Amino acid sequence: MAKTILTGDRPTGKLHLGHYAGSLKRRVELQNSGEFENIFIMIADAQALTDNFDNPEKVRQNILEVALDYLSVGLDPKISTMFIQSQIVELTELTFYYMNLVTLARLQLNPTVKSEIQMRDFKSSIPVGFLCYPISQAADITAFRADTVPVGEDQCPMIEQTREIVRKFNHIYGEDVLIEPKVLLPDNAVCMRLPGIDGKAKMSKSLGNCIYLSDTKEDVKKKVMSMFTDPLHLKVEDPGHLEGNTVFTYLDAFSKPEHFEKYLPEYASLDELKAHYTKGGLGDVKIKKFLNAIIEETLEPIREKRKVYEQDIDTVYDILKEGTKRAKETAADTLAKVKEAMKLNYFENKELITKK
Ligand code: ATP
Ligand code: MG
Repeated sequence: MAKTILTGDRPTGKLHLGHYAGSLKRRVELQNSGEFENIFIMIADAQALTDNFDNPEKVRQNILEVALDYLSVGLDPKISTMFIQSQIVELTELTFYYMNLVTLARLQLNPTVKSEIQMRDFKSSIPVGFLCYPISQAADITAFRADTVPVGEDQCPMIEQTREIVRKFNHIYGEDVLIEPKVLLPDNAVCMRLPGIDGKAKMSKSLGNCIYLSDTKEDVKKKVMSMFTDPLHLKVEDPGHLEGNTVFTYLDAFSKPEHFEKYLPEYASLDELKAHYTKGGLGDVKIKKFLNAIIEETLEPIREKRKVYEQDIDTVYDILKEGTKRAKETAADTLAKVKEAMKLNYFENKELITKK
């Protein structure tokens, strides 16, 4: 069986370091590993509309931004198929049939959806489409016959929901019609859910606590220098705390042994730096400058690549158009198999509705 990846992002803003740590970096590594036959990267505009239905302009404007971010981090359109969700009607049809396989109670139990509802302050006016987005995600994943979904931790309940739908569908309509996917989380635990610069649990476009991949050098520096650390660490000589200290969480996510040699040779490792901070006598400014140098090392080449593509928007547009065309072929093929399994293909097989 072909090894296939499906993953994507909502075009609700530019992509940020959380996306990079939680998913994008891994995608590029998997793409370049040559182990996967098909890689589908989806710009989930239809899903973004479920909680931005009153601001379609925002979603539309960000499609190109996300595409530019993809190309800048090294996703290669010759290997990875980048496409736009709303242009593939087959996904909507699959969602419609899968809706019958999920109960309302089950949707309401989804912990990610629960916290997102709280965050968006929907109260009792939750759009049905928003509550159902885990079902549409199941359609996305299964339409491309993906077996691997590289995402951050917040997506685990979605993949679990997909797996349940697949099992139920296959049980009722025919074994092996749909493929049960597995989630691929980042190796590094802190990358599974990178906190925001304000110390909040998750860096998220909707919370405005992000370092964007396209931020300028100056913006990044300003954001890093304003990062949440330890409110009890007022003077340099005070002992510092690591727990909930965003700068150290980011160092856990991004620092490598060679960074010490290059930017902070007086410390041999992150453990040594942490020990000094906890003991007291190490100021926040010093560690923030170190973190800034490390982040810049990651972002500088991404920024440069972005500039090149920004000069050639026509090419980016063609990449999306071509990718969407290719993706649609696969989705149409799966939908045909699904309808055949459900015996809904009446006009291909007359007996289905004429024979008693
Ligand atoms: P929104 O606020 O609109 O939901 P978002 O910032 O949560 O935006 P998504 O487009 O929902 O971003 O997420 C895309 C992918 O990036 C998912 O795989 C998700 O797990 C991953 N991701 C997003 N934020 C983080 C984060 N802070 N840490 C790790 N992974 C993340
Ligand atoms: Mg999200």
